[in-house]
Amino acid sequence: MSDSCDIAIVGAGVIGCSVAFHLARMGQRGVRILEKEPLPGTGSTSRANGGIRAQFTTEVNIAMSLASMAILDGLADEMGDPPVYRKAGYLFVTGDPKKLRSMAAASEFQRARGVSVDLLDEGGVRRHAPWIAGPVAGGTYGSRDGFVDPGRLTNFFLRDSTSAGVQIRYGAEVGAIERDQAGFRLQLGAGELRARVVVNAAGPYAKRVAAMLGVELPVEPVRRHLLMSGPCATLPPLIPMVIDADTGVLVRREGDRILIAWSNADEPAGFNLTFDPDFVERIADAVDRRFPDVAAAGIDRRRSWAGLYEVTPDHHAVIGPSGVPGFLLANGFSGHGVMHSTAAGRAVAELIVRGRSSVDISALSVGRFARGELIHETMVL
Ligand SMILES: Cc1cc2nc3c(=O)[nH]c(=O)nc-3n(C[C@H](O)[C@H](O)[C@H](O)COP(=O)(O)OP(=O)(O)OC[C@H]3O[C@@H](n4cnc5c(N)ncnc54)[C@H](O)[C@@H]3O)c2cc1C
Repeated sequence: MSDSCDIAIVGAGVIGCSVAFHLARMGQRGVRILEKEPLPGTGSTSRANGGIRAQFTTEVNIAMSLASMAILDGLADEMGDPPVYRKAGYLFVTGDPKKLRSMAAASEFQRARGVSVDLLDEGGVRRHAPWIAGPVAGGTYGSRDGFVDPGRLTNFFLRDSTSAGVQIRYGAEVGAIERDQAGFRLQLGAGELRARVVVNAAGPYAKRVAAMLGVELPVEPVRRHLLMSGPCATLPPLIPMVIDADTGVLVRREGDRILIAWSNADEPAGFNLTFDPDFVERIADAVDRRFPDVAAAGIDRRRSWAGLYEVTPDHHAVIGPSGVPGFLLANGFSGHGVMHSTAAGRAVAELIVRGRSSVDISALSVGRFARGELIHETMVL
């Protein structure tokens, strides 16, 4: 049975729902989201830490963060209470004076681009987090940084867009896509859907979806763990995201507990979602040395989990045309998909409706890989 729509979005994670939301706000009709699972947002979006920051070292990451923060501020009243975007701050800390010098240079670069970031001495760091231990040379603090609730943001996008006419189909796995003169034909189990435009918002599966149209997209799934501590009453009820820049371990509050993250550079690419109990031992020392209250609270393994980052070779997203006319990409967010979802969704919608995006996303083109124009970000977490 053949069905048709104008714009088909593959994937109902935070990215696909944001694209749909912005299309609907721009008055676009005939938008359909196709999701293989029976519910929205059950992929990487449901596993995210929800951090949002503008403390980056590339023009495009900073621009995407500032645009996302502005959009989130603009939607705050509509999203209601408690706030979906909480400006609890991001505090980067180092005990290494040499590292502090490069953090100082990064903060100058950021400030020149409108980021609210302070360079701190030891006293400044301890004012934000008197509970950290170990040597402190200084750090940086971004006051508009903080957290976004990934589930509530996704649900907001979806609720708002479906009430404006966007349709969503669950259990609709796109198995193949073909292009002919009339547009695209998407194979959905026994049925098919015709569309004029297709948006790839398939998260860790983006490479597979791109390959359906012969597009080479270097996005790999990479497992990432989040550890939940036991109840931790000795830390304040609201703390910034605190990143030990010397080890890469970061902590934030989640209810009466603390969430702990660390990126294992040796993790191989693959769809492995199993929780690795050895991960806890690997970071135990680093947690103990910098965050003794968190170490004392212990790790609750049953509440800890693993999810998939969708990683590109330069840890920047791929947003925009794919090379196949009418097929757009919004993929490879490399740990920044929740925080950049608002700006990314708007950019894709703008490309479809107006032909250009208000944020300059040219650096994020898929063509950069073939051209060898990779973007270098040093503040990757
Ligand atoms: C542990 C962890 C911590 C993270 N922390 C942060 C953070 O602090 N800040 C931040 O910004 N980001 C963070 N991220 C990254 C963030 O979660 C992702 O970048 C973001 O969720 C990507 O959203 P998405 O919509 O592209 O992907 P997903 O949420 O995975 O959605 C893709 C959807 O596409 C569907 N799909 C796939 N293939 C098909 C198909 N063929 N047909 C139909 N449907 C299909 C999937 O079922 C899925 O629902 C974290 C990720 C992990 C795993």
